[in-house]
Formats: sequence, structure tokens, C-alpha cells
Amino acid sequence: MNQLGLYCSRCSARLPFRYQDMKCTCGGTLLVNYDLEHLRKTLKKEALQTRYPSMWRYRELLPVSNPDCIITLGEGWTPLIRLQKWEQKLPIRQLWIKREEQNPTGSFKSRGFSVAVSLLKESGALKAAVPSNGNAAGALAAYASRAGIAASVFIPSDCPPLIAEECPLYGAETYLVDGFIHDAAAIIEAGKQEQGWVNVGTLKEPGRVEGKKTMGLELAEQMGWTFPDVIIYPTGGGSGIIGMWKAYLELKALGWIDGPMPRFVCVQEAGCQPIADGLSPDSLIFRAEAAAQASPTGMRVPQPPDLPLILSIVKQSGGTAVALTAGQIAEATQALGAQGISSSPEGSATWAGMLALCDSGWLRPTDSVVLFNTSHAMKYAKSVNFTTLATIKSYADYKSLKLKRE
Ligand SMILES: *Cc1c(COP(=O)(O)O)cnc(C)c1O
Repeated sequence: MNQLGLYCSRCSARLPFRYQDMKCTCGGTLLVNYDLEHLRKTLKKEALQTRYPSMWRYRELLPVSNPDCIITLGEGWTPLIRLQKWEQKLPIRQLWIKREEQNPTGSFKSRGFSVAVSLLKESGALKAAVPSNGNAAGALAAYASRAGIAASVFIPSDCPPLIAEECPLYGAETYLVDGFIHDAAAIIEAGKQEQGWVNVGTLKEPGRVEGKKTMGLELAEQMGWTFPDVIIYPTGGGSGIIGMWKAYLELKALGWIDGPMPRFVCVQEAGCQPIADGLSPDSLIFRAEAAAQASPTGMRVPQPPDLPLILSIVKQSGGTAVALTAGQIAEATQALGAQGISSSPEGSATWAGMLALCDSGWLRPTDSVVLFNTSHAMKYAKSVNFTTLATIKSYADYKSLKLKRE
């Protein structure tokens, strides 16, 4: 067994391991505890070098005990690409992009669901449900079908249609919901007893944070066991920020890395910006109307399940939060496209946030910066801010252009 149980991220209480109900009595989120002192002696980072290029190379730091229960589709070990040309133009030292869109379900949600569904398998669960803006639904659908577990997914009706359409393809019961992701979550909570579902929503079980933790482990390994100065991450429910912060703490405890924590920057779309709002203390009110103005992406989570934890990580790390307009995000999609990178609105928001923080002087000339491209542009085609269709020409256009030239 890899894990020693759970601990509370708020009051540090220790509890035995379970895979449902991750709230401590104090209200804090419960996280998986590992025997890091023992691992420090028995696991050397050099031992990883010969392992398979997948996030399961970190299996000692993942909570699945029975290797036969690991449900994998080849997730993780995504490329980290350096953007040298832009480094010369921008007032920063290094710029990298982590290509999470190359995961098996076209988004980094594969990581969380590989672990979450493995835990379901290990526990013998037969049915699971998730509220989602799309990518979590697709990932649960894919991993559950591979595990032989029945999946039900609940998606706000304005979310990207191609992402929703992929879910029944994997065999998931797929429902569109009027409202936000928290309205979808309420439907699952109300029905879970009757339907026999395990709710695998954000912070409802330990697997998704642990799976996303591998982004941090991998980033450190790919950068030669160092962390960049700054990580810019498109934040929704926050499990990625929580996971990468946990990766930092565990690597530190293992003695595999040294130095300060990276500064975590959360980017969101203006309107739905609970993290930026939370950092300026007097505006912590949920404004449904403003949130409805934001595009339906993975960042549109007006009420993250543990906002205080996200805020404390951002503050502790010396990070910040930036809210970007839909226009800035659309321009960023083009800027990344011009470098050969297909980026979803969320991934594009990290580029837009980086530019904004260069302009404001928050990023420094000595900083190395890593952007997380969490999904493909393709999955968002025919939905939010997809403007390039208008620029595509027909064969007749080509012929008439050719005639004019001749
Ligand atoms: C879910 C999602 C996010 C938000 O990630 P969290 O870790 O839940 O904050 C960002 N980008 C994409 C593409 C997503 O699907």
C-alpha cells in the first residue's frame, strides 16, 4: 500500500483512507498522505529514468494499491516545448509550454480520471457520475468504458457541442443541464443514492487531484528536477493547482528538489473570476450574471469547491490571478496557432495572461515561465470564439483567384 491515509489541507487532521466524501469536519479538503520518509530511503529519482513514459511512472506517489486495477489509456508524459523565438521578444528569461492537449482524451482531464477510475475499479464501484463543462465528462466516459464501469455525465447545455457529442461515443449516459456546473453537481448529489453513483466531481474523491499532481512531478523531472519560477494555469475547480502544489511539497519532502515554490498564476475569463476576486477581499460574492457572460470553458466554475485552499496556495507561492477578456483569449489562440500549437480557450488564456503580466511588469526578466495548454482548439470548433471558419475559402474562390493571376 502506497498511502498512509488522508490528511486535512486546512487543520492537518489525519484520517484513514477512503475514496468518497473528501471534506474534513473543519470544512477543509482531505488529501492523500504517503509515507514519504520511507520513500525517501527506498525510491531514488534516478530509478525513474528507465520507466515507461506515462504518468504511472510515479506509481509510488499514486494511491492505487492493486496494479491490476490501473486503468490506463497512455496518459501523461506530455511534451514540454520551449518557445525560444518569443523569449527574445519578451522581458522574461525562459518560456515553455506543456502540451497537455496530447493526452488520450484531448485534455489533461485524462490524468485525473485515470487515477479516479482506477480507484473506482479497486473499490468495486459499478456506476459513476460527474458534473462537467465537457472535458471531465469525456475523460470519465472514456476511462469508465475501459474499466467496465457505467458513466453518467451532466454538462451545461451551452458547453462545446463536439466535446458533449464524444461522451455517448464512449457509451456514457449524457445529459445537458440548464445552468452552471454547480447546478449539474446538485443534480448528481440529489440523485446519487437512488442511482447508485459515485460522484467523481472535483474534490469529491482523491483520484483527480492525485492524477493532476503528476503534471507537477513530470514538469520537475522534465526540467532536470527543478521547478520554473512561474506556472501559469487556466483554473476552474482548482484541482490542478492543488495537485501541482502537492507535487511540490512531496518532491521537497523526498529531497528530490530544492528551492522556492513556483509562483502559481491562475488565469480565468473576465466575468467568471472567483480567484482574482478572492485575492481582492471585498468582492467575494458570486455574481451569476457576470459569470454567465464568460464563455463555457473549463475555467467557468463560479463556485470552486475549496476556493480558500486555491487562494492560500496562490498567496503562499507569491502568485497572482488574471482575468482576461474573450477578445484577448481569441487573439492568443491565433498567436499560439502561428507557432504550430493548437490551443483551447483555456490554454490560450495562459498565453494572454503571460502577455498581460509582462506588460504590467509582474513577470521579471529573470523568470522562467511554463504555460499549461490544457486542451486542443479542435474540441471547441463550432463553439466559443471560434473565428477562423470565416476565413476558410472554397475551391471556387481558389479558382477565381488563380484566374485573376493568370
Ligand atoms: C477542467 C479544465 C480546466 C480547469 O482545471 P482545474 O484543474 O479543474 O482548475 C482548464 N482547462 C481545461 C481544458 C479543462 O478541461
